[in-house]
Amino acid sequence: MPTRITSIVLLLVLTALVVSACKSDLDSKQGDKVTVITTTYPLTFITERIGGSRTTVNQLVKPGVEAHDFEPAPSDVRAISNSDLFIYNHPAFESWALNAATASNNDDGASTVTVQTINLEMAGEDHGGQAHDDSVLDAHVWLNPLEATEQAERILSALIEVDPEGSQTYTRNADALAIEFRALDELIAKRVSNCELDSVVVSHLAFGHMAEKYGFAQIGLAGLSPEFESGPSQLAKVIERIGELGIKHILQEPIVSDRLATTVSAETGTELLTLHPLEVRTKDEASEGVTYIDIMKSNAEALGTAMNCAS
Ligand SMILES: [Zn+2]
Repeated sequence: MPTRITSIVLLLVLTALVVSACKSDLDSKQGDKVTVITTTYPLTFITERIGGSRTTVNQLVKPGVEAHDFEPAPSDVRAISNSDLFIYNHPAFESWALNAATASNNDDGASTVTVQTINLEMAGEDHGGQAHDDSVLDAHVWLNPLEATEQAERILSALIEVDPEGSQTYTRNADALAIEFRALDELIAKRVSNCELDSVVVSHLAFGHMAEKYGFAQIGLAGLSPEFESGPSQLAKVIERIGELGIKHILQEPIVSDRLATTVSAETGTELLTLHPLEVRTKDEASEGVTYIDIMKSNAEALGTAMNCAS
């Protein structure tokens, strides 16, 4: 009976359609999260907060590793190549990042969206149209929560570009994060107000953006990167300044060597406190789940103590 055969064929076709619909539904919901490679911890923090369960984030510079010295291994370049999104700060921080991204995209033709999250020219660091020397630019913008918000905006755009379906979720998460960053900014501003001192001694000059925002000056035992340690004459000047200004604390970061800080502290009778440049977390911080927000609150406390602020 032709009608009956037609019905059976129709039923089979419908079944096939339903099965394939279910399959693609499963694919989009369970597998295939957006894979993201980040370089440093603040980028990981922001991406995980905005991306939520739609993303898996893999950070190249592991906890406890000095981030300025990092060079990617071939396996890292492959990981970038296999990811949907590669997020870095700025060539002033990751001089290798653009090459790694280019090399990875040449490998197999699969496209990885790459996002540079810092535009230092827009942050007022344009050197009068002269040729740029990235080594003199301060990339540590994440230590000012409002500049971290700008990084988050760039990460949000990139996530939406890679995964438009997640747009609403990403935007909602980014809005919530921006509120947290604003609250953090207010907390720091309050803690670092009405201070007896307006200068701090830090292990490397990572805190320029924070210093500019909250109105203090940093004196470095090393330069923009921890490897540019001050020589003996520069160190003698730092020791002299400590005496002149009545500084009582040396703010040492957790990951690099504290040799210079210990020497200066012994010489000047100052106390060591931790101030975290938040490039990566220590191994303990990572295993305990200590976040960017937690560490920034500790930083505000250390600055408040070091400058003897009222609140
Ligand atoms: Zn640094």
